[in-house]
Amino acid sequence: MQECIFCKIINREIPADIVYEDDCILAFKDIQPAAPTHLLFIPKKHIPTFFDLQPEDSHILGKLQLAAASVAKDMGLTERGFRLVSNCMKDAGQLVWHIHYHFLAGRTLQWPPG
Ligand code: IMP
Repeated sequence: MQECIFCKIINREIPADIVYEDDCILAFKDIQPAAPTHLLFIPKKHIPTFFDLQPEDSHILGKLQLAAASVAKDMGLTERGFRLVSNCMKDAGQLVWHIHYHFLAGRTLQWPPG
């Protein structure tokens, strides 16, 4: 996906502050952080929205959550924790059409989100 900004980050065509990478997941710092720690976890496979997920993609989502937990442990967040949240389509505020999970930590987060 040539025009996808997250695919460009995966392909190192544009820079990003990468904090985690494995065979199918990449995590990097959000350029407009909404919390002291704001990371984005994305699959390397270009999947625009949750509605485009296929049954064979299920392992990607599992790996993504395992990666988030692993990074959280490495960051010493096992006590205070973190939030993992994904925006799907316009009412939720999705702006980048490549599935991603926001990883937010470092402050007390409000619930429900706005
Ligand atoms: P969405 O609104 O859930 O689609 O979130 C997209 C996120 O991507 C926003 O929090 C943006 O700040 C972030 N973002 C957009 N472009 C970049 C980039 O080039 N590097 C890192 N984060 C980005």
